[in-house]
Amino acid sequence: MAPPRILIVGCGIAGPTLASFLLLADIPAAHKPHITILERESTRKAHLRGQNIDIRGSGVTIIRKLGLEAQIRASTTGEEGVQLVDENNHVWSQNRVDKSGEIQTPTSDIEILRGRLAELCWKNSQRISAEAERESAKGIEYIFGDYLDEIKQDDKQVHVHFARSGETRSFDLLVGADGMQSHTRKIVWGEEGEKDRLKRIGMFAGFFSIPREGHDGKWRRWFHAPGRRGIMLRPDSLGVRSTIFMYVVNEKDPRFIEVATKGNNGAEAQKALLEEYFKDAGWECDRIIREMKSTDDFYYDAVSQVKMDSWTKGRVVLLGDAGYCASPISGLGTTLAFSAAYKLAGYLQGYIKGEDTDPSAALAQYNAQMKPIVEECQELAPGQPYIINPETAWGVWVMRVLIRSLSYTRIIFVIVKFFGRILHLGPQAADYVRVENFGFKEMSVWEKEDTEKRS
Ligand SMILES: Cc1cc2nc3c(=O)[nH]c(=O)nc-3n(C[C@H](O)[C@H](O)[C@H](O)COP(=O)(O)OP(=O)(O)OC[C@H]3O[C@@H](n4cnc5c(N)ncnc54)[C@H](O)[C@@H]3O)c2cc1C
Repeated sequence: MAPPRILIVGCGIAGPTLASFLLLADIPAAHKPHITILERESTRKAHLRGQNIDIRGSGVTIIRKLGLEAQIRASTTGEEGVQLVDENNHVWSQNRVDKSGEIQTPTSDIEILRGRLAELCWKNSQRISAEAERESAKGIEYIFGDYLDEIKQDDKQVHVHFARSGETRSFDLLVGADGMQSHTRKIVWGEEGEKDRLKRIGMFAGFFSIPREGHDGKWRRWFHAPGRRGIMLRPDSLGVRSTIFMYVVNEKDPRFIEVATKGNNGAEAQKALLEEYFKDAGWECDRIIREMKSTDDFYYDAVSQVKMDSWTKGRVVLLGDAGYCASPISGLGTTLAFSAAYKLAGYLQGYIKGEDTDPSAALAQYNAQMKPIVEECQELAPGQPYIINPETAWGVWVMRVLIRSLSYTRIIFVIVKFFGRILHLGPQAADYVRVENFGFKEMSVWEKEDTEKRS
């Protein structure tokens, strides 16, 4: 049997991770799959955007297997923990990260900017591809700056049309790893069902970075304002920018949705709406609004989860945020993407080796194994995002006092350690995702990188 041709849509976190493990499988070079990664953005770093994300539990085991741990740890933001601050920057409570990784606190022991992580996953996949090519395997073909506008399938193949090049090609398997707003999902599962699959949690957020100021430090500062408004200001890895997560929990004002549907084209309207909501909020809002207006890495969306009963249809499978986005407030999206890519590559081995004639058994196994993991990762703490973001000034005060008392007495750590999983407090689920042994070749530690190319 000829090696299967696999198209992976999306060169974020999940896409290149899947490609890497598919090539690290213990399969003779001549049988290794022919992999194409298609990324909508151009190579000019457009897909390397995004602010702070974390890697936890099983995710750490997986980056170690990829030989990526040292590079990732060298690129972390070094966030010390979370401080709850008021209008005067007075710290009401602070919870330091557990650097042993034993307790999953809001700050993980590995915090990194999404763009840097995506860059490392992509470049590491190139390194793995080059090694496979040296052994006469086909390696990975990367296509940047294009996307699919048609996907059709029959029993044997998936036929796709590339919108920009106009090319039509056929593959044995198509993996949609194209993020929360996945076009693969919309084309294959139907646009009309999107409102049932993409579940908003009532929160709307802008993500961007601003020039760092001397007092920004290494702590995440979290400021709450009445009206369920909040801002997190966090460190970057190079010490030159501070990253912002600016949000409003609001299901009444329809403009939050209206501006979200415009995507990147609606940045001006999105910024104007956030300005309207934060201009009287005090704290450092004047500075943040001023910088938001001129930043070029602004990203806005309705914070949502993707919920589906199955992530496979024939020869098409969804991976990562495309299939089961858990939302940034879960703290688990990236770990979920790593874990799922690892598992999918493992289950596909029988098909790639030719032991199974089609991928259906592997895809059924992927669906079955991922279901309980996804369900647990998508459980948000009770009352999220409402209780932690009160409506009134009085509510904000009570919340601060409560968290201060729990932190000061360290009761919060006892609760998280012993009841965190049951109560879905903090991203405990990352510790319970099993990392099976699929016999993948362990990648050598990646030590050298052309740092000059880093921006
Ligand atoms: C620009 C951007 C910024 C982000 N910022 C944050 C953040 O600040 N905080 C946070 O917690 N999470 C953020 N995320 C989400 C986070 O990366 C994911 O939750 C997580 O890492 C899972 O990764 P993934 O590979 O499944 O999806 P993603 O990381 O979203 O990767 C999907 C990839 O698919 C590409 N793509 C999308 N549509 C198409 C298409 N039609 N054809 C081809 N390629 C396509 C995208 O450009 C992207 O490279 C961001 C994602 C993106 C794309």
